[in-house]
Amino acid sequence: MPEPNRLLHPILDWYAENARDLPWRAPGASPWSILVSEIMLQQTPVVRVLPAWTDWMERWPTPAALAKEPPGEAVRHWGRLGYPRRALNLHACARVITDLHDGEVPRDHDTLLGLPGIGEYTAAAVASFAFAGRHAVLDTNVRRVLARAVRGEEFPPKATTPAERRLAASLLPGPGEAPAWAVGVMELGALVCTARAPRCADCPISDLCAWRLAGKPAYDGPARRGQTYAGTDRQCRGRLLAVLRQAHGPVPKQALDAAWDDDVQRERSLDGLVADGLAEVLDDGTYRLPG
Ligand code: SF4
Repeated sequence: MPEPNRLLHPILDWYAENARDLPWRAPGASPWSILVSEIMLQQTPVVRVLPAWTDWMERWPTPAALAKEPPGEAVRHWGRLGYPRRALNLHACARVITDLHDGEVPRDHDTLLGLPGIGEYTAAAVASFAFAGRHAVLDTNVRRVLARAVRGEEFPPKATTPAERRLAASLLPGPGEAPAWAVGVMELGALVCTARAPRCADCPISDLCAWRLAGKPAYDGPARRGQTYAGTDRQCRGRLLAVLRQAHGPVPKQALDAAWDDDVQRERSLDGLVADGLAEVLDDGTYRLPG
């Protein structure tokens, strides 16, 4: 296993030269804007997050501004980012931050973990990037870079393992460099050490990378999930939610029926939206975003 300091400086230097200029990384970006970006980026690429984040921050520059709105407005402005339960979680976060934390995003990792919908990754990312904390930030990009560079494997396990956490913790530099290390490894995974086509010739740690030095042995773990979307319940739910978002008021059931042909799948998806709190049925049988 390479010593931590062997990976650290090549990645810090590379990041200083190659980091994308993203608004949530700008000096003075508020902790709230960083929290919003982290939730949006969890399952959506940067290029789609950028306009949604900009719109969101103009509309709700503080947790208190969002907390005043009904949750349905958060779902409406989530737009087409996908996985819209994240919008409800952000709204719930805004209310808890406003009610229990004087409207300020908490700086402490454990307090962040107590916010609605905030998991280990997001708590570590916000504590690192908003408050310069020293935490192992393990997203899919970081996990892939460490799997390759240190463990010599093409892909990390499906879910984060204790061994990965121990490895990430062992590589953490001192407090001054920890946030830059975290974001640098993440950016390397996003731009160079990509899942399908790593650009090893452009990689600052190629001469240290265990997987490359071993001749890039083929992945032999469990089958990796594909990205199928067409025809899934997720696509159906997206279509139904789009109808509700565009309506600015209750919509008759027929409008939803027209959005998806397969009756069984449509009803199942609609039930799912209601059960998840993303839609409401009114007494007259019409549907709307949660009020
Ligand atoms: S050398 Fe290639 S596989 Fe290894 S970390 Fe760099 S880009 Fe990834």
